[in-house]
Amino acid sequence: MHCPFCSADDTKVIDSRLVTDGAQVRRRRECLSCHERFTTYEAAELVMPRVIKQNGSREPFNEDKLRAGFLRALEKRPVSVESIEAEISHIMQSLRATGEREVNSRVLGELVMDSLKTLDKVAYVRFASVYRSFEDIAEFQAAIERLQAEPDGIGESQNDA
Ligand SMILES: [Zn+2]
Repeated sequence: MHCPFCSADDTKVIDSRLVTDGAQVRRRRECLSCHERFTTYEAAELVMPRVIKQNGSREPFNEDKLRAGFLRALEKRPVSVESIEAEISHIMQSLRATGEREVNSRVLGELVMDSLKTLDKVAYVRFASVYRSFEDIAEFQAAIERLQAEPDGIGESQNDA
């Protein structure tokens, strides 16, 4: 651990405690060269796999994007935010549990579809057919936005796509 003030290598831990319900260790350190003190946080690595898009490019997993997709898909449906958050956590746990460093966007899309099926059958039926004709979750979200902008509802003409 380099000192952030003088970049010296030698620092000592002067205090160490668990924070955020034990998920992190907070450490106060002191630089042995310049004697400045600073804090570090250490957590077990819970890295989300990167998402492989259909065109082969990779992008970081984006929880906000996933959440936005759910909220759009379930707009005006009788589904609580708590239920949606639970599904998002479930998807993220599933992805971490694979232990893979990268996941195909198609796998992510299928997990979203499974969650929608659990949350709201109407939303699932509406969006499954739309999603399956798209390459990845970002395109799916864009399509949902376009469909919801239409005056006469969602995706009737897409149902047999
Ligand atoms: Zn220093």
